[in-house]
Amino acid sequence: MIRMVDLKTQYENIREEIDRAVLDVIASTDYINGLAVKTFQAELEAYHNIDHVIPCANGTDALQIAMMALDLKPGDEIIVPAFTYVATAEVMALLGLTPIMVDVDPDTFNLPVEQVEAAITPRTRAIVPVHLFGQSVDMEPLLQLAQQHHLFVIEDNAQAIGASYEFSNGTRKKTGAMGHVGCTSFFPSKNLGCYGDGGAITTYDADLAQRLRMVANHGQNKQYHHAIVGVNSRLDSIQAAILSVKLKRLDAYCAARRQAADYYDAAFADMPQLKTPVRAANSSHVFHQYTLVVQDGDRDALRQHLTDRQIPAMIYYPIPLYKQKAFEKYWSGAELPVTEALCRTVISLPMHTELTPAIQDRIVGAVRDYFK
Ligand SMILES: *Cc1c(COP(=O)(O)O)cnc(C)c1O
Repeated sequence: MIRMVDLKTQYENIREEIDRAVLDVIASTDYINGLAVKTFQAELEAYHNIDHVIPCANGTDALQIAMMALDLKPGDEIIVPAFTYVATAEVMALLGLTPIMVDVDPDTFNLPVEQVEAAITPRTRAIVPVHLFGQSVDMEPLLQLAQQHHLFVIEDNAQAIGASYEFSNGTRKKTGAMGHVGCTSFFPSKNLGCYGDGGAITTYDADLAQRLRMVANHGQNKQYHHAIVGVNSRLDSIQAAILSVKLKRLDAYCAARRQAADYYDAAFADMPQLKTPVRAANSSHVFHQYTLVVQDGDRDALRQHLTDRQIPAMIYYPIPLYKQKAFEKYWSGAELPVTEALCRTVISLPMHTELTPAIQDRIVGAVRDYFK
């Protein structure tokens, strides 16, 4: 059976180490904020080469906690891509902030600096670049723009942990370690996934780190002293122990995804009907998704053709954020052309760390067969 994401084979390959790590936590009874959480936090700080990691319960919480800790207020505008997962804008709506949804780049599907600049108003307080499908946003011009306008940059790194970006002076930084704050998710199918829910927030700023920790922990700076209104958002010790086992393998997992992407690219290279993922020169793509654009053909019919042959394929994302019923009040009524076109034409093929040429040949064969 071909899966979109094969977590089962991945687990089988690391089973002994995972099982031992989980059983150790159970035996320790150190379930909440235990040693495993502190260990993983330090490992993730080292991996990102960043001073502060604040673990939390999931990626959506990470975004919400970041916006609360930055003291964003109702009515503040935050610029966000219209082509993304709902979580990014959802937390803004929850906090009374106004998401300003802008169009994306047709090649990278990411936030272009020109669109962001055009959307800035006196009420704009922050930008949320989403490193979509595993590829870094072009951060250098975005960070410059943010600095000029005194805006916070909150990276949504849920899909791109492990990716990096090269600045024009040759410095390379990991996604999640470029803005004021980075937010990631350890949802099982993410590039660094645990076996349940998990998330983390990254920052260089010591004061912000302290606020982030307070917000995530009921707003307390001292036990039973609640200085601000916070939430309860923790990473379980068991999940942290699993993540430590997998973090050691993250670079190898990213390499496996890239290799699988190369294989697909080569297999579709002669097909003008399909546009394969565009890799930005200054970003290392970690292929959370392998997403094709159907340039000539019916995307939905292709998906049905694949489903009929037991080949899974997913549409990320079928509806622009501004056309979601929950967000209709934020929509001006103007359609964003690139986002609209992508929602109609993208299709994501199975992408994970355990793909083999034999599996990919079956997937490629079924896709090619549709266009025959
Ligand atoms: C998965 C995801 C999130 C949310 O993460 P959860 O851990 O599921 O809450 C946020 N943003 C993007 C872009 C995501 O892909």
